[in-house]
Amino acid sequence: MALWRKRPKRKKRLWGFLLIVVVAALVVSFRLVEKIGPEKKPGDRFTVKRVIDGDTVELLGGDRLRLLSVDTPEKGEKLHDEAMYLLADVAQGKPARIEFGKNRRDRYGRLLGYLYVDDTLLVNKMIVDSGMAYVYLFEDADLGRPEVKSILNAQRGAMARHAGLWSIKRAPEPYYIATEHSFRLHRPSCKSVTDLKPGHFRRFATREEGLAEGLSPCRNCKP
Ligand SMILES: [Zn+2]
Repeated sequence: MALWRKRPKRKKRLWGFLLIVVVAALVVSFRLVEKIGPEKKPGDRFTVKRVIDGDTVELLGGDRLRLLSVDTPEKGEKLHDEAMYLLADVAQGKPARIEFGKNRRDRYGRLLGYLYVDDTLLVNKMIVDSGMAYVYLFEDADLGRPEVKSILNAQRGAMARHAGLWSIKRAPEPYYIATEHSFRLHRPSCKSVTDLKPGHFRRFATREEGLAEGLSPCRNCKP
């Protein structure tokens, strides 16, 4: 009889102990989720705290994320504010998932990745689709990556609809130039391309022809 009475007490203590362990584990894992170092990858879930500009957000915990493969207008340029408001509208305050690129961070310490909110909405693509950003690729871009493919398709759609940036009229050049293996498109007068010898660059009849291939406007000559 005495033994039978003791057991429930022990069980109660055990359950209490387990409860403490579970709560502690939850607290620890929550902190890991919000504080991602280069080595930690607990499901790569975050909360978007605020928007810095059209292609950069700050995450809860302080990390900044630069959206990969896209480029929105700089401060002072047309549609800068609109791109920022759009990003805030879609992502601010939301739990998010990030798919990282080859390098998790850039030289400024910012995270680099593809941002998903509402489970499946690829924010990088949405901004390009709305015409608020150009596709922006680097030489080591993985063109077979599904995110890159869908962002490029989104840009072709935005071009066809003359959405956002694609509605801005620009004085055309006689032709446009890109160096081999580079994703930047230049005016023929741009310093980056004036010294190039024939055979070391690609030539495009129109701006759109180059951008449809995934090139983005050079930040110096701004074609
Ligand atoms: Zn240029």
